[in-house]
Amino acid sequence: MSDLEHLDVLVVGAGLSGIGAGYRLRTMSPTRTWAILEARDSLGGTWDLFRYPGVRSDSDMMTLGFPFEPWTDPDAIADGPKILDYLRRTADKHGITERIRLGHKVVAADWSSDEALWTVTVEHAGTRRQLTCSFLYLCSGYYDYERPHDPQLPGLETFEGQVVHPQFWPDDLDVSGRKVVVIGSGATAVTLVPSLADAGADVTMLQRTPTWIASLPRQDRVRDVLQKVLPGRAAGTAARYKNVLGTMGVYELSRRRPAVMRSMLSKGAAKSLGSTDLVADHFTPTYDPWDQRLCVVPDGDLFEAVRSGRAHVVTDTIETFVPHGIRLHSGRELDADVVVTATGLRIKLAGGIAMTVDGQARPTGDLTVYRGVMFAGVPNLAVCVGYVNASWTLRADLANRYVCRLLGHMEQNAWRVATPHAPEGMEGRPLLPLASGYVQRAAADLPQQGDGAPWLMRQNYLLDRRDMLRSDVTEAMSFGR
Ligand SMILES: Cc1cc2nc3c(=O)[nH]c(=O)nc-3n(C[C@H](O)[C@H](O)[C@H](O)COP(=O)(O)OP(=O)(O)OC[C@H]3O[C@@H](n4cnc5c(N)ncnc54)[C@H](O)[C@@H]3O)c2cc1C
Repeated sequence: MSDLEHLDVLVVGAGLSGIGAGYRLRTMSPTRTWAILEARDSLGGTWDLFRYPGVRSDSDMMTLGFPFEPWTDPDAIADGPKILDYLRRTADKHGITERIRLGHKVVAADWSSDEALWTVTVEHAGTRRQLTCSFLYLCSGYYDYERPHDPQLPGLETFEGQVVHPQFWPDDLDVSGRKVVVIGSGATAVTLVPSLADAGADVTMLQRTPTWIASLPRQDRVRDVLQKVLPGRAAGTAARYKNVLGTMGVYELSRRRPAVMRSMLSKGAAKSLGSTDLVADHFTPTYDPWDQRLCVVPDGDLFEAVRSGRAHVVTDTIETFVPHGIRLHSGRELDADVVVTATGLRIKLAGGIAMTVDGQARPTGDLTVYRGVMFAGVPNLAVCVGYVNASWTLRADLANRYVCRLLGHMEQNAWRVATPHAPEGMEGRPLLPLASGYVQRAAADLPQQGDGAPWLMRQNYLLDRRDMLRSDVTEAMSFGR
């Protein structure tokens, strides 16, 4: 027996997923020993890292919040500090904070079938140490915290102003009275533009291509009524289902009747902007809604900023940076004191952990998902991944509960090892239904899904709920002692 510290379950990451996993482990697997290792010096993941002005959710908080801790703040679309505060309070209240080991970065995980355990290598305070666990649960998010996507902007080195990436927003950046160009048209750019305008900047959103954008009310009147007439948990559940069905309805309509959705979004934008020309020029993508993520703006704040002239949108491509700004392929030049590169994340799966199974490297790009939670041929390992077309937490919580169900089955039957086994010759398919740049750039590192259950990564909460909470955990799974 080695003298390394051993835990039954090791969770990697103390963001929204890891905190939710902690709650489910505590309540559904009370006999197991477990801890959460977190690379950073604070919990909260995404909601602690991103500090740019206006950072907020773009899905509603009734579904982004945990089902066991209903979101009660009046804002249905909430800003980052409120979400971080909610995560901290939830972790404290449910006894999860004390299980989190901050500043512990997992760099390698090696499975040994002989010992039926993972040996995990961790960097902490400048040194490396190892511990073992029976089950490894990766709640490490989906993107690189250190390196965002670098679009290789031409001539950037000649620019004499300040260049800022939203992932590393400087605390002391004052944009008031300065010319700011935000490059990008995704969720981050559409959040930043009205916030920078509010902060007194003369702001221009420079986009290569438009994005579909929907305006949603910041506050949810129906939820407010439900909270008045129903007790806390019941109100939370009712509001969650209302929003689950609403979001699924929009997604299904977009997929089945894209022309209807295009028309609805265009009309909504035209009403907010007071101009059909602006919609035609800057808010009409060539792709259909939900081919890429649909962006949400609360109370139409981006449209309002553009309509009032406090913000501008330019659709063009960059020829080169110049000392005072950006020259575009149209010949136009944009003056800038500050350029914000809202050009996207770099996908990083499995926390960048180098993984081996009995000495053989298992890169994520070679793997096939099982129920979107485990991988074929990889024992005692699960990953927590949310939805791309609905709130992350909806799926993350199902994954957490599925893992606890599997652990319960293993405990009852004294199994030490559970390994999904894919059928011979199963056809592989791409994992995600999005044509977005960040997904396409990561294609080689993404696992694949199979051609039928339980090898599918569905983007459908109602089907997943039945599957993850009720399915036979022995299906396509081999167990061993
Ligand atoms: C700006 C922004 C806004 C978003 N808004 C929404 C939204 O409105 N709705 C929605 O559904 N989704 C949204 N998302 C997606 C969002 O990331 C998820 O909602 C959710 O926060 C993911 O939680 P997570 O815990 O899985 O991952 P993260 O929040 O990324 O947390 C992962 C944690 O794991 C840690 N970690 C990673 N690797 C290791 C390692 N090797 N060792 C130890 N620790 C490690 C990280 O340090 C981090 O703390 C948004 C993302 C961004 C960037």
